Amino acid sequence: MKMTVFLCYRSAAANREKNVSVNLVKALEYARQVGTRILGIVGRDGGYTAEVADVCIIIPVVDSGNITPHTEAFRVSSGTLSSPPPDAPVRNEVGIYKMRLSNRTKAVFLDRDGVVNELVYFPEHGIIDSPFIASQFRLCRGVPEAIKKFQSAGYKVIIASNQPGIAKGHILPQDFQQIRKTMKIQLSQQDVFLDGEYYCLHHPEAKVERYRTDCTCRKPKPGLIYNAVLDMDIDVAESWFIGDNLTDMQAGRSAGCHTLLIGKMHCQLCALMYNEGVKPETVKPDLLEAADFILKGE
Ligand SMILES: [Mg+2]
Repeated sequence: MKMTVFLCYRSAAANREKNVSVNLVKALEYARQVGTRILGIVGRDGGYTAEVADVCIIIPVVDSGNITPHTEAFRVSSGTLSSPPPDAPVRNEVGIYKMRLSNRTKAVFLDRDGVVNELVYFPEHGIIDSPFIASQFRLCRGVPEAIKKFQSAGYKVIIASNQPGIAKGHILPQDFQQIRKTMKIQLSQQDVFLDGEYYCLHHPEAKVERYRTDCTCRKPKPGLIYNAVLDMDIDVAESWFIGDNLTDMQAGRSAGCHTLLIGKMHCQLCALMYNEGVKPETVKPDLLEAADFILKGE
């Protein structure tokens, strides 16, 4: 299996709080965002590298005036460490492996409207849209069972949804919160609890100035996924994004997840997705069938 590894080999250790080695901190943060494995070989106390690396070898400081020579000496002998042991943690003669590879979790990211809850028809406007008020919120068929199946198989289940309704002036902030509450109540009535919810409330042409921005979290950008990855130490390569739109597939693909489209009837979006290079790995009519498909392949 191919794996990209970011190797951080430094005499001193980056420190985010003290603004030390700022570029290295940025590189490490980017590596985390895109789900790359990080191997650190650093001096002092390991600093920020030790905090975020999957494996961090900390070179002991014998003499604070000779940190760099110690690191150089370590480089000579480090060839034997190119194949670290598979299980954590072990101590060797020059430092400590901090193994976290096996701790990374897999996740299923869910778009909300059209995947978790039904879309709503507004006859007065002739449109189908997200629920504007809590009483319009209905879970889609099989959603609680599907979430249970994913969680039983070791996946975290996380909502990742664009919700520009407040920005556009369609709904009030309290209605948005009430819809979230209703969703959680309806799920909890069936003993189902989400592992996380990530929403983008922005829109580049928002009526409400506070939300008017070309942000990095609005799908098709992968910012919502990256935020969850950082918060929960998620392995994107083992994770899925399940949505009902082109932007869901684009966001999931950009983040490095597998992608699955929820599509009723035939897939009208497939030709468009094919042209955009983000065709999902499969199409299923609802979340329950999606869960059965994904878990069968485990
Ligand atoms: Mg949707």
